[in-house]
Amino acid sequence: MKIPLFFEKQLMQWFTQRGRKHLPWRKKRITAYEVWVSEIMLQQTQVSRVIDYYTHFLKRFPTVESLSKATWKQFLPYYAGLGYYRRGENMLKTAKIVVDEHHGKFPRDKKTLMKLPGVGEYTASAILSFAFGEDHLAWDTNLQKVFGRFFYGEKNAEVDQKIFEKKLLSDKRTLNAAIMDFSSEVCRRDPKCSECPLKEHCEYFRTSGTLEAKSKKKRGEAFPAKDAQAYVFLHRGHREYFSAQKQQFSPFVLPPSANHRDAIKLYFREKHALLLAVRPPHKKCYVDGIPTLMINAQILLGKHRFAIFDKKDVRDMMEELDITE
Ligand code: SF4
Repeated sequence: MKIPLFFEKQLMQWFTQRGRKHLPWRKKRITAYEVWVSEIMLQQTQVSRVIDYYTHFLKRFPTVESLSKATWKQFLPYYAGLGYYRRGENMLKTAKIVVDEHHGKFPRDKKTLMKLPGVGEYTASAILSFAFGEDHLAWDTNLQKVFGRFFYGEKNAEVDQKIFEKKLLSDKRTLNAAIMDFSSEVCRRDPKCSECPLKEHCEYFRTSGTLEAKSKKKRGEAFPAKDAQAYVFLHRGHREYFSAQKQQFSPFVLPPSANHRDAIKLYFREKHALLLAVRPPHKKCYVDGIPTLMINAQILLGKHRFAIFDKKDVRDMMEELDITE
């Protein structure tokens, strides 16, 4: 079939020239543990935020054995700020299971990997592909979007992953990385079709995105607000934005149990001794496939020690997220 050949050839060429090979988890020889750490950290956090955390974390916990011995208190300074603490708890649990039940080695089979806390089908495929070089497409929102748009004209189209796993002949480790980078740089939420090397045979481009627009209207399914995480944007007059991280702007990410006004106020009162005015959510969306409420808030009383950023930094951060409505 010509089109899959065209698809992978163009993608691989693009990746050779423009891929993000500098990312620390893209090194040639990488252990299953290192892949797993990167994938867990990347689950709900944008790439630029994860890089520093990942490097520091691996300096402190270079192996699964070292992590398995860590207490929550020892672990937290290397994780705090990434938000969504259930992920952190699962990391500690998984490290202990890998050491106690698998002799310190991540299993090489998908089903066993998926029994580890916090490891879903995507993470299992990513470990098998990136660490063990196995022939798996690591199917996440990036792959779904690119395959869906290119072959069917709509990012949420039903795609038979198994067929593509067989039809695409390139080394899947490189192909997975190439599609992830391509999704983040070119086939973004607002795709840069005019500069895309795939446009000649892309269904989305041929139909000018109309199929995707129609299907979005048709779906209209209820947003699962109860299960949504909260991205809290703390600001002063929308000119200064207070960040959960020092080096770059990051909203405060709160779990679903704290995604409403009273819980957000309580969180900031208890954790930072601050009194807030919290607005209703101004956006309901999916960030990397996770339902997310975007919420603005202002500090009414109390002294903070947060780093201050401006609107442009917030815009840059939003650009990097894979957001769907
Ligand atoms: S032409 Fe547009 S929609 Fe198609 S793959 Fe390229 S960027 Fe994505």
